[in-house]
Amino acid sequence: LLAAIAVGCAACGEARPRVRIVLVTLDTLRYDALAGRRDLPSQMPRTLARAAKGLSFERFHAASSSTQPSHASMFTGLDPWEHGVTRNGQVLADSQHTVAERLREHGFETHAVIGSFPVASRFGFAQGFDSYREDFTRDLFGASRWGGEVVRDGRFFSDAELVTEHAIASLDQARGDAQFFWFHYFDPHAPYGGSVGLELNKTHVIAQVQARPQRREAELRRLRELYDLDVAHLDGWLERLFARLDAEPGFETHVVVASDHGENLGEDGSIGHGDGLSEAEIRVPAFVLSPRAAPGVRDDVCGSVDVAATLLALAGVAAGDLDPRARDLTRPPPEPARLRAWGMRRTLAKKSSELRLDGRRHPLQPWLFYVAEPNGRIVRGDGRGVEPGGDGAGLAERFRELEARAGATLRSDPLDAESERALRELGYIQ
Ligand SMILES: [Zn+2]
Repeated sequence: LLAAIAVGCAACGEARPRVRIVLVTLDTLRYDALAGRRDLPSQMPRTLARAAKGLSFERFHAASSSTQPSHASMFTGLDPWEHGVTRNGQVLADSQHTVAERLREHGFETHAVIGSFPVASRFGFAQGFDSYREDFTRDLFGASRWGGEVVRDGRFFSDAELVTEHAIASLDQARGDAQFFWFHYFDPHAPYGGSVGLELNKTHVIAQVQARPQRREAELRRLRELYDLDVAHLDGWLERLFARLDAEPGFETHVVVASDHGENLGEDGSIGHGDGLSEAEIRVPAFVLSPRAAPGVRDDVCGSVDVAATLLALAGVAAGDLDPRARDLTRPPPEPARLRAWGMRRTLAKKSSELRLDGRRHPLQPWLFYVAEPNGRIVRGDGRGVEPGGDGAGLAERFRELEARAGATLRSDPLDAESERALRELGYIQ
């Protein structure tokens, strides 16, 4: 009753339809895995058919190539150097006012089902949720890799089948007239081929290429095939979720789907994500399914920071103190030619390197930012300069400011020993 009063039209006495807001985040999903490309069809035909009935974004950019910073941006509408989560292992501060908290304050009941450890409640992502299901059933690279050095019996993620089962259970159990759900899927993430019982990781692939350099292209094709199998597996389970959302008469349902970052599958000689800012890592799929969003495809530059404002707008909840730069993506921007998206690679507590396909460890730069220009061009750089073809000093000056702000986040950053071990095993920190 209280929820009904909260969302009802008090002045006219006429109740609004029951409303359901759903955020679906697809971890590690590449743009081309959903959209397809000239030489490769979509690996998610059912999800693509759903997206085609909604509003899709061709230039949606992840705030970071790492999971936690990017998700924190979706929930706060802030860039990583503003919300303070600039690498995995940090905790989203209680002082941050998340979308889930804002919706709950407006009478929504709020439920989350997450698919992997990096967005576990211990990292601050459960703020504002009435329930937060974080049951993981699978080891990341086999139990033997963990040797007791594991979190919660070494269980790090769940596959789409279990996430969907729990998601549908949470939909079944919700009773309020205003409901918000977050469902997080992890399947495209390594291990590659996990959906068919194979568990390849980056190190395996690089070892194969080193052993037989003439088979480099064949190994990369195999890697892509395994990644695509996992994506196709996700597609099937997502369709079950969408079908469940369809079958709810009396509800006005609004769904926002976005990836948190992509994945290198050989781009720049690299496999995985988080060490760089290649287009494969940061330009990702996103779409909205809502009776209030006119179907179509938009090419204005947008990104993770716009998810929060979009969810609130769909919920009919005022943006309040949300950063005014965050946009409601269901409304075409008045000046698309002025829009930019900003983001960053994870911060590094110390010097770090990346193992690439050439078998060598390449040092990572201490800082790395990007800006996606209004025409979609991505320019990377840091306070010392930008990559060739960038606009030079003006941008470096801006990146220098961002360095100072991101650097401040590292100084108030205690990581508990258990989380640190787990993240080190994952390769998220060195
Ligand atoms: Zn991720």
